[in-house]
Amino acid sequence: MITMKKIMYQEIVDRVASMCQEANYNLGEDVFEAFQQALRTEESPVGKDVLQQLVDNAKVAKTEHVPMCQDTGTAVFIVEIGQDCHIVGGSLSAAINEGVRKGYGEGYLRNSVVGDPLNRKNTGDNTPAVIHLEMVEGDEITIHMTAKGGGAENMSDMKMLKPSDGLVGIKDYILDIVKDAGPNACPPLVVGVGIGGNFERCAFLAKKSLFRPIGERNPDPTIADLEIELMEEINRLGIGPQGLGGSTTALDVKIEAEACHIATLPVAVNLNCHASRHQVAIL
Ligand code: SF4
Repeated sequence: MITMKKIMYQEIVDRVASMCQEANYNLGEDVFEAFQQALRTEESPVGKDVLQQLVDNAKVAKTEHVPMCQDTGTAVFIVEIGQDCHIVGGSLSAAINEGVRKGYGEGYLRNSVVGDPLNRKNTGDNTPAVIHLEMVEGDEITIHMTAKGGGAENMSDMKMLKPSDGLVGIKDYILDIVKDAGPNACPPLVVGVGIGGNFERCAFLAKKSLFRPIGERNPDPTIADLEIELMEEINRLGIGPQGLGGSTTALDVKIEAEACHIATLPVAVNLNCHASRHQVAIL
């Protein structure tokens, strides 16, 4: 007989609340280190100045427990649920939304969600969160959270390329999206790319890629090489930190690729701004 591990509803609420606050106050080590690295390599004096301001801003946010940006983001979750665990006291999505409500409310973080895209009335508590669920083996729940800024999300894009467009078509498309975004996505960026899947899966892959820490390459060597090549090409565009010119337009490029239909080549680009905020918790 399989024993199901029990995870309490309130434990999820409290962990999610703390993740929402930590994500906004405490820039991850990977992003902070990428700023420092960019400071060493940035060629433009103005670009260097902006990067130094980003470093200083991240330090103030961490020490004074204030958000690193006024846009505290949509709370987006990818949750891996072990098939041998059971949530006691309520549903997983209710617990996550209650955690977001608590975290954003008690942390005085800006509520950035409207309940209806047409009447635009703010829900007042940053819910509903965007929640993606993946069933996995085991008895743990792994919660990945990002506070995703609206400016960078606005400049993201998805396209169904033709298979004959090939690698050249993929690269041209990604570079065009970054060029069109210019300063509007708040560079330096983390560029998340999905290749393959189908229409909706491809967009999810682009989002998922942004949860991988900066500097961690895709395990497939061909995709890893493409990440590096694209980052070099993007950094030759000259957009620079905050779009003021320079050699640091992207801190990293992340690609997730999956199988697709013989007649299709979906590609999605999900841009993330310099406030690239992600957290992970295992219950
Ligand atoms: S896109 Fe990012 S850096 Fe720009 S305003 Fe939104 S959260 Fe802040």
